[in-house]
Amino acid sequence: MTRRHPWAGRTAAAASAAAALVAIAAPAEAATTTAPATTATTAAAAADVDYATWQRDCRAVMDQALPYLEQRVDRTSPGEKQAIVFDIDNTALETDFGFSFPQPANQPVLEVAEYAHEHGVDVFFVTARPGIVHAPTEWNLEQAGYEVDGLYVRGFLDLFKDVAAYKTAQRADIESRGYTIIANIGNSATDLSGGHAEQTYKLPDYDGQLS
Ligand SMILES: [Mg+2]
Repeated sequence: MTRRHPWAGRTAAAASAAAALVAIAAPAEAATTTAPATTATTAAAAADVDYATWQRDCRAVMDQALPYLEQRVDRTSPGEKQAIVFDIDNTALETDFGFSFPQPANQPVLEVAEYAHEHGVDVFFVTARPGIVHAPTEWNLEQAGYEVDGLYVRGFLDLFKDVAAYKTAQRADIESRGYTIIANIGNSATDLSGGHAEQTYKLPDYDGQLS
């Protein structure tokens, strides 16, 4: 029996137009994540990652994020407007495991988002997905159980920009609306570099194999 990546067949499995567009969006982000030092030196190990391992690895990171959020929410300043930012693919949603549409929530991340929402923190999503899939993406997030206070997708000209710079600019935009971004959660280095968040939490991308 041959071992293959659980996400390897996702393009072939695309069953709807919206899902196909998401699949087109993914390589653009993956391509830009090869620039940092985290290139494919341990790619062989990543090939062994299965769904249970991915979930356990995500849970371990969210087990750190949740107590931080609890403490940070407890010391909200008067008048402070708090936001939390999530990447979508392989962060908020299970993009590359169990490919389907709508994509299910990545459960450990959903629990953090729910905690944030229930404690007055507005929930934002910043994704490299192109603007054409804004509506199905928002619908998917809501179907998966997320409260969506804001969704940033890439406009046409943004598609030609560096993903990290694009995502950083969206966080700056959220701040310009009066928010303090208390946490930024993503699975790629390009989700998290560039500041504009008090804390960052990095989920696994297994050397760029998960967009
Ligand atoms: Mg991602």
